[in-house]
Amino acid sequence: MIPWCRVVFPPARGRPGSDLAKSVEKKPVPLDPLDFERSELEREVTALGAKAFHGRQVFRWLWRNGTSDFETMTNLGRDLRARLAAHFSLEAPRVESRQTSVDGTAKFLLRLADGRHVESVYIPDTPAQTFCVSTQVGCAMACAFCLTGKMGLVRHLTAGEIAAQVRTLALETGLIGSPFNVVLMGMGEPLHNYDATMKAVRILADDQGLGVHPQRVTLSTVGLVPAIERLATEPIMPNLAISLHATTEEQRARIVPITRKYSLADLIDACRRFPVAKRRRITFEYVLLDGVNDTPADARRLVALLNPIRAKVNLLPLNEAPAIAFKRPPDERVNAFARILAERGLRVSVRRSRGRDIRAACGQLLVESEARSSGQALADRM
Ligand code: SAH
Repeated sequence: MIPWCRVVFPPARGRPGSDLAKSVEKKPVPLDPLDFERSELEREVTALGAKAFHGRQVFRWLWRNGTSDFETMTNLGRDLRARLAAHFSLEAPRVESRQTSVDGTAKFLLRLADGRHVESVYIPDTPAQTFCVSTQVGCAMACAFCLTGKMGLVRHLTAGEIAAQVRTLALETGLIGSPFNVVLMGMGEPLHNYDATMKAVRILADDQGLGVHPQRVTLSTVGLVPAIERLATEPIMPNLAISLHATTEEQRARIVPITRKYSLADLIDACRRFPVAKRRRITFEYVLLDGVNDTPADARRLVALLNPIRAKVNLLPLNEAPAIAFKRPPDERVNAFARILAERGLRVSVRRSRGRDIRAACGQLLVESEARSSGQALADRM
C-alpha cells in the first residue's frame, strides 16, 4: 500500500488554458481544443482574429458532431480553418482496444497524447446507458481492495482528457446525440484532481456540446472532506457518491487509508451539510468484504451513521482479484446485510457487477503504459 503522505505527485502537464498550467507552464505547447470550455474557446478564436461566434461553432463541431478535423468544419472560412489547424492540436484519446463482455459491457483502453493509458467503460441499460470514465492515470488513495490503487498515481488527467473519454465512447457506441449517464468512477480520485474534473463536468454540460445535464453525472469520492465542502458551493454540481466501506474509524482506516487524514466523523459531517437537491440523495457505496465489514452489527451501525443524511446505499460485493487480500462474501450474507438496511428504512441496492469477465468491474481498472510497472505485472497475472 502507498501511504497517502508519502506519495510523490508527478509534475502536472502544463497547457495554457488548463487548470494544471498555472505553476508549470514555461514554453508554448500545442493547445488541445477539447480542453477548453466554450467561453474559453470563443476567447481563443477571437485572439486569432475571428468572431466569437466562430468559437461556438468550433465547440459544436467538436462536441456535438464529434468532428476531429478542422478541415471538415465547413461553416468556417478556409482561412480560419487553416489558422485553427495551425494553432490547435486536437488530442482526443484514441481507442487502442475494446473488449466486450458477455453482458454487453464494453471496456475501452484509451491512449492519451503522451502515450499514457486509461480505461473507460460503457455499461448498457442500467436502465440508462452509462459511461464510466477515469480522472487520473492510477490513483494515490491506495484503498486496500482496489486494483487501481496498487498502481499509485501516475498523473492527473486534464479536463479535456476526462470529458473526451465520454466523447470517444459516445462516438464508438453510436450514442452521440442520445441521452446517457456519466459516472466519474473509473481510475482515479476525482476530487484529488478537482479543477480538471469540475471543468470536465462543465464542458460535458454545455448545451452546445454533448449537453449532459449534471444530474446525469455522478462523482464518486473516497471522501476528501475539504474538496466535498468546496463542491457544495459549485453552481454546476454532479450527484455525489461517497465510498464509505466501513462504520468505525479503525475499520475504515485499515481499508481506506485517507481516513487517517479525514476522519469518518468529519466525512459524515460534511455529507450532512452537503446541499442535496430536491428528490435527490447522496449515494453511499459500501464494498462488502467477507468477514471484515459485513456483519449484522456493521449493518446496524451503518443505519445509525447515515440516519441524519438523505442517503441511499449501494452495496458492492467485492470484485476479487489475486492481488487483493480479501474475499467476496457469499450471496446470503450480502442479502442479509441488505435486508437489515432495508428493514430500517434505508434505500439500498446491490450492484450487479458488470463486465467482470473482461476485468471492467469496479476496482478492476488497471493499466500502465510505459516501462513495466508493478501495476502492469499485477495485471498480467490476472
Ligand atoms: N476514487 C473514487 C472513484 C473510483 S472507484 C472512489 O473511491 O469513490 C469506484 C468505486 O469502486 C468505489 O466505490 C470503490 O471503492 C469501488 N471499488 C474499488 N475496488 C473495488 C473492488 N475490488 N470491488 C468492488 N468495488 C470496488
